[in-house]
This record gives sequence, C-alpha cells and structure tokens, in this order.
Amino acid sequence: MSTDNKKTETEQCTIPSVTSSAVEQCPEFPYFGARYPDARCIDGYLHDMDSCDEEGNVYIMDEMHPCPFCNKDEFMQNQKDNEEDLTEAQGWIDRIKTKYN
Ligand SMILES: [Zn+2]
Repeated sequence: MSTDNKKTETEQCTIPSVTSSAVEQCPEFPYFGARYPDARCIDGYLHDMDSCDEEGNVYIMDEMHPCPFCNKDEFMQNQKDNEEDLTEAQGWIDRIKTKYN
C-alpha cells in the first residue's frame, strides 16, 4: 500500500483494510469529482475517500460503483446501461491506468 500521500486539499478517510485475496491493488484516481485521486477500490467497488462519518470511516455507498480495473465487466455494463460511449470509457480507463498506476 502506498504511503506517499501528495494530497493537500482534504483530509482523507480511514479506508477499511481489504480482506479479499486481491492479487493486484487497483490505482487510486479521481472519480467522485475531485481533481486529485479520491476513489479507492475495495473488493471490486469504488469508495469515495472524501466521504466519511465522524469517526473517519469511509461511507459504504448506497450506489455501487464497479471498479473499472478489477471489475471491468460490470463497469462497462454500467456505462452501457447509462448509454455512455464505450470507446470513450475505454479511453478513460487507459488514461487513468497510465497516469495513476
Ligand atoms: Zn479494483
């Protein structure tokens, strides 16, 4: 897990440790509207590191956001359901991968 934290704008929440046997840690990247990486993949779903309760625990979201890396099938299905351009979505994934991995 990376400890070099370049974020300055907000305090980050405590992220529950990943309990699954994930072989590969997905990159953190801007997803929930921040200019810095604010999304963290936990067990295949993205969590907003900027929303947490008083104790600093990250909220489990009502809406599930599939991770575009380890849960790509579901992510792409979501894009499709929302009538997003899949080519564009793939391009976005590639850019995130290059920039944040
Ligand atoms: Zn992931």
